[in-house]
Amino acid sequence: MGAPQERAYFRYNRVGKLYLVRRISVGGKRKEQWIPLDPLDCDQFAKAMQIKKEVHDQIVQVPCTNPRCSNTIPMTKKQLEEFFISSKKRYDLVIFPYCSIACRDEMLAQHGGPINGSHES
Ligand SMILES: [Zn+2]
Repeated sequence: MGAPQERAYFRYNRVGKLYLVRRISVGGKRKEQWIPLDPLDCDQFAKAMQIKKEVHDQIVQVPCTNPRCSNTIPMTKKQLEEFFISSKKRYDLVIFPYCSIACRDEMLAQHGGPINGSHES
């Protein structure tokens, strides 16, 4: 790979000053350039981080796991992540979101197994 590659990211130095760090790789050689940001850019950066956080709190419409249902469940991205991560961690299970108890029961019924003793035959 002879083509120069460039990556840029933000870094705080030891005294908490914000820098834009450009890392350029040319022919396997790495070069770093630390560009100090002036206070105005620091403001921009803070705003960008705020937007990132807001995106995280944005509502996404999660489709109901029941394929015959077209409902969606509104969740924030954060909730969604926590929903999957925490159920995996806590119960070592992947839990799928359903819009309603009825949808969940329908799917459980399809995959066999009575639910809450409400099994009819
Ligand atoms: Zn549903």
